[in-house]
Amino acid sequence: MMEMRKPIAVSEAIQRVIDRVQPLGSEKIALAEAYGRILAEPIIAKHDVPPFDKSPYDGFAIRSEDSLGASGENRIAFTVIDHIGAGQLAKRSLAKSEAIRIMTGAPIPDNADAVVMLEQTVETETGFTLRKPFIANENISAQGEDAKKGEELIQSGTFIHPGTIALLATFGYAEVIVAKKPIVGILSTGTELLDVQEELVPGKIRNSNGPMIAAQLARMGLDSKSYGMLADDLDACTATVKQALRETDVLITTGGVSVGDFDYLPAIYERLGADVLFNKVAMRPGSVTTVALADKQFLFGLSGNPSACFTGFELFARPVLLKMMESEKVYLPYAKAVLGEDFKKANPFTRFIRAIYESTPAGATVRPAGFNKSGAVSSIARGNAIIVLPGGTRGYETGTEVDVLLLCMEEGDATWVL
Ligand code: AMP
Ligand code: MG
Repeated sequence: MMEMRKPIAVSEAIQRVIDRVQPLGSEKIALAEAYGRILAEPIIAKHDVPPFDKSPYDGFAIRSEDSLGASGENRIAFTVIDHIGAGQLAKRSLAKSEAIRIMTGAPIPDNADAVVMLEQTVETETGFTLRKPFIANENISAQGEDAKKGEELIQSGTFIHPGTIALLATFGYAEVIVAKKPIVGILSTGTELLDVQEELVPGKIRNSNGPMIAAQLARMGLDSKSYGMLADDLDACTATVKQALRETDVLITTGGVSVGDFDYLPAIYERLGADVLFNKVAMRPGSVTTVALADKQFLFGLSGNPSACFTGFELFARPVLLKMMESEKVYLPYAKAVLGEDFKKANPFTRFIRAIYESTPAGATVRPAGFNKSGAVSSIARGNAIIVLPGGTRGYETGTEVDVLLLCMEEGDATWVL
């Protein structure tokens, strides 16, 4: 008798997987390796930024009081007594009507309290004249204006992007504590599968899911360990799954997870005594997506259908992997956009449609990326987003505002809003 599976809502399925995630722990790495990793320590200001009062312009440091009363008719003259660039300290302090020529980034000399920009002066034999009074602290970048010593600037769990790298470098983090990366295994199952370099023969297709998932992981900055392809054979697949579980933190399989005669993943979970969190989700494509835990290790059983496989990875594997790294933002970034094309097909399940998202001056639009059955591969290639349409009886017309999940973004959202 065919096994009956009870579909659960996508949000429920996501919650079930997220609830079971265990953090992987952290490691210390060189700053040069840190781009794309998840911070496992907060960034605390180790000193004020800037660390000293400095000049934001090329110009002259003066005592503001000496400029009192300056105007177009009453230009006030200054004598230049020293000259410093960034990285240099003034050797002298200022007496009345004296100035030090100062370049951007140089520390403000001891008793100076304003900077006159070069453009605001007229040169003389011994210095310059100016035509406006300056007030105390005018044109000065004050010590600590950007960050104060001891302040927590970025929290643990944040994605390290180029700006984060700049801040880490500012405080001398030559090494930084980041989340360990999970080791992710990929196994493609299906007797019909050929490797990329193989010629097509009748009845066979090339394995596109394996390389696709490796790239989805690479997009997250994660490496993968390929277990290649296996024919639909219960014993052989069980043996490889067992081996992969010894060698990886997470195993992603594709294919063989449905109720067909050669779908062996359900039997493998049973042999492993794995805890199946769900095996039917109220979504299209990918309703057969299964997630199980063997001890504490996640097994993602993704459908062999390329669009379903792609979507299953982004919806379930991605947030789990990010949560293992204690990321604060594990979900795909959410946006709203206006449908640029009718999507008439109604379905009782939530639809995830590979789509092209475009941001225009008039607002964001999104349209399906072409042939959109669960077995489609061309629309995954064209798409840069996923339209999410709630299950129901109606279709959607051009101009309707719809929910969109964005792909290709470095950082996601902290909450699942759909
Ligand atoms: P399955 O999930 O095993 O029932 O497979 C569903 C569909 O996806 C079938 O048409 C398979 O031939 C196809 N398929 C399975 N695995 C792959 C793969 N690795 N790459 C591309 N297509 C696949
Ligand atoms: Mg199959």
